[in-house]
Amino acid sequence: MRGFDYERPSADADAIRSGRESSARFIAGGTLLVDLLRLDVERPARVVDLNGLSHTALEVSANGLRIGALVRNSDLAEHPQVIAAFPALSQALLSGASPQIRNMATVGGNLLQRTRCSYFRDVAVEACNKRTPGSGCAALTGYSRMHAVLGVSDRCIAAHPSDMCVALLALDAVVHTLGPRGERAIPLADLHTLPGARPERESVLEPGEIVTHVSLVKSALAARSAYVKARDRASYAFALASAAAALELDGNLVRAARVALGGVASKPWRCPEVEQALVGKPATKESFQAAAALAMRDAKTTVDNQFKVELGRRVIARALTLAGART
Ligand code: SF4
Repeated sequence: MRGFDYERPSADADAIRSGRESSARFIAGGTLLVDLLRLDVERPARVVDLNGLSHTALEVSANGLRIGALVRNSDLAEHPQVIAAFPALSQALLSGASPQIRNMATVGGNLLQRTRCSYFRDVAVEACNKRTPGSGCAALTGYSRMHAVLGVSDRCIAAHPSDMCVALLALDAVVHTLGPRGERAIPLADLHTLPGARPERESVLEPGEIVTHVSLVKSALAARSAYVKARDRASYAFALASAAAALELDGNLVRAARVALGGVASKPWRCPEVEQALVGKPATKESFQAAAALAMRDAKTTVDNQFKVELGRRVIARALTLAGART
């Protein structure tokens, strides 16, 4: 690991000022950046520790939640109001990483997780457009079983790794930030960018911009939600495919639906075609399977990851079934 300057500001303005430098990186839980420092993927001249800031509260109101960016993943997952009112979020968090990592990882850091593409994390591999723009993409001709099939480009096929973001997307979360140009409220659907021609850019955040909190609105739909994750082993593994689903029912008919996918796309992936197909249909396994079959139509697969097309449809149908079964 290379040396760097370390700062721990206690005021947002100081963090933003220090973080604006291109050679600076923010750190909070450290569960990602420390890995990347050790791997020599990240080589910052300055690390700005956000743990001195005040964004640590998880506030519950009659309308919803205000989740501070420094709230730990385990505290959010195990909060009674999250379990009751946003079950998909709790389930998604608990399906990720290990208890030790969840105890350290923050909500802000989870939002901005970087890909687990093995070529990105191995500096002995020269071709990685995300790590070194213009160098190529080793995954396009290499082993790509874990890689994305939706939202990919000819420059990068890395999959987005977060479980939490998939649930937040289905629950219509809004991310609140503070940066050099002031405050912003960014729907989660607009936070992450597709690789396109610039895989090195992963979100719409500007240099120095920090996440202050995430807001969620309570609803019948959010309370009837579920998260399903398919992976190679039962714990401490990233998703091959995952889905968050939420349903609002009128008797046994679907009044509204939300569906998002993880593990299969370059960013947390909303499925509006599935959501629209469900409206007015009975909340049955047959309806869920028929709607799920509409997902993944734009998939671009490799020989290694074509199984994700069918797996993606199956986790959607399963998540819808579990959401529909909630009372
Ligand atoms: Fe790099 Fe993306 Fe290619 Fe992985 S898929 S090697 S992150 S450019």
